[in-house]
Amino acid sequence: MAGLFCLLVAYIASERPNSEGARALSALGDRLLAVEQGDLTSPTPAVVREKLPKLATAVDTLFAEVRASIENAHALGMYDPVTSLPNRLNFRAEADKLLAGRSDGQMAAMLFVDLDRFKNVNDSLGHARGDQLLVMVANRLRVVVTAEIDDRGGPRPLLARLAGDEFTIFFPEVAAQADAERVARRIALAISEPFELHGHSIDIGASVGVALCPDHGVAIESLMRAADIAMYQAKSSGGGRYCLFSEALASEHQRKIDTEAALGEAVQRGEFLLALQPQLSLTTGEIVAAEALLRWNHPNEGMRQPSSFIPIAEQTGIITELGDWVMSEVAAMLSVWQRDGVTRRLAFNVSPRQLDRSDFFVRLRTTFEQAGVPLSLVEVEFTETAAMHCSPEVLEEIASLRRDGVSVAIDDFGTGYSNIARLRSMPLDRVKLDPSLIADIESSEKARVVVQAVVQLVKGIGAEVVAEAVETVAQADILRTMGCDTVQGFVFAQPMFEDEYLSWTRNSDRHARDVA
Ligand code: C2E
Ligand code: MG
Ligand code: MG
Repeated sequence: MAGLFCLLVAYIASERPNSEGARALSALGDRLLAVEQGDLTSPTPAVVREKLPKLATAVDTLFAEVRASIENAHALGMYDPVTSLPNRLNFRAEADKLLAGRSDGQMAAMLFVDLDRFKNVNDSLGHARGDQLLVMVANRLRVVVTAEIDDRGGPRPLLARLAGDEFTIFFPEVAAQADAERVARRIALAISEPFELHGHSIDIGASVGVALCPDHGVAIESLMRAADIAMYQAKSSGGGRYCLFSEALASEHQRKIDTEAALGEAVQRGEFLLALQPQLSLTTGEIVAAEALLRWNHPNEGMRQPSSFIPIAEQTGIITELGDWVMSEVAAMLSVWQRDGVTRRLAFNVSPRQLDRSDFFVRLRTTFEQAGVPLSLVEVEFTETAAMHCSPEVLEEIASLRRDGVSVAIDDFGTGYSNIARLRSMPLDRVKLDPSLIADIESSEKARVVVQAVVQLVKGIGAEVVAEAVETVAQADILRTMGCDTVQGFVFAQPMFEDEYLSWTRNSDRHARDVA
């Protein structure tokens, strides 16, 4: 429709090049732009009525008809009442028609847009403000889509709101993959600009998935699924970006879904094991402790490492059940070792999701008490991010555990955002340096300076330093000179299952010679 008006305006401009007419035309242009952005209710400017009365009447009549047909469509349930964009049903039907009508070999693109952090806005400012934000997002999407068509022409794309904070855009014609990627980039950029909402500056973002027809699907349904998978990847890579669909992404996505389904039953089926990795003193070479690390003995895929399932277990919440299992297994091991006269500390990892549960600390105490294990043999590892974000109540629970003998370690230190003041007041025994900090200490003077400073900081607040993922003797030597207390790394020992670990520890004299 806007195209028709543009033709009209161009025609009249050529007929009446005088200045008043031009002013009226420019007012009409502004009006058309407002219509482009969804405003069908503002009156036709007075100057247009005065100077171009016939045109003004025609415009009014036409807008009234458009309004009536939109109201009719709303009544038929084809539009989203919040943004006035087509809804899912409408989108599916219209996109199907566009897809069927395109010429053979013509490339089309489906974009799936999902907002990042939108839930925070609804939670903190309420649903009415959330709805206003959705209208603003819809308008920005309209502007990007219009600019795209202005730039490169082609038929008008179909923009819709599917549900919640999900939008889709179907481009029935794109000349090349790069065009689809460019518009996806533009969208991510447009939504990353702050929104001003009743005095609040709101920072959200958009994760955009791109799927191409015919490469990634030839039906609207399959294109939407492919774009959704790509969007999911953009979101899990941090959001605020776009991602193009690929078969590799699809199989990774399927693997995630399968893992999610299998994890639920794997605990009951007894498919998990703990591997134990020794920690050795850098001064005496003694084995001072071990860390328990989860392994999943998957019935079809064999032994799976934590990176392939812990993030999924955290997303789905299964990590709390898994964490309970780890804790009771650690308690059972320590109980047997203690009876056999082995009194060496055993550390286990605690996920932030476990800390969210109010009964975590009671469970921990009960588990070890029932196993008859003194708390002095237990070490808990929290990630730096979890340690920095826990509530004062959780912090007090940690302090109380520590007073009762549990050792507390901060894991992967150097990857999160530590608040130094908070670090100083944390109930803390040990800090485990993240592998990324020490990876280059042999070759880089800067890396050595950073590690030296962190070691001094940690020791300055009265905690010990554990270096993780130490892979060479040279790294261990440098860390010793820097004052680092303990190492855990492949250079001395891989994670081992219990029997192997126990026999390895029986040769502790030899290990002491290796290290010291
Ligand atoms: P993490 O707690 O930082 O554990 C240390 C990781 O470094 C382990 O990986 C270990 O095998 C690896 N590592 C140790 N020495 C070396 C080395 O010299 N070189 C290299 N390249 N790697 C080394 P793993 O077992 O794959 O565990 C990865 C992460 O999974 C753990 O990191 C921890 O964050 C998580 N995880 C493991 N078990 C559990 C668990 O029971 N609960 C929770 N919530 N997370 C766990
Ligand atoms: Mg750990
Ligand atoms: Mg670590």
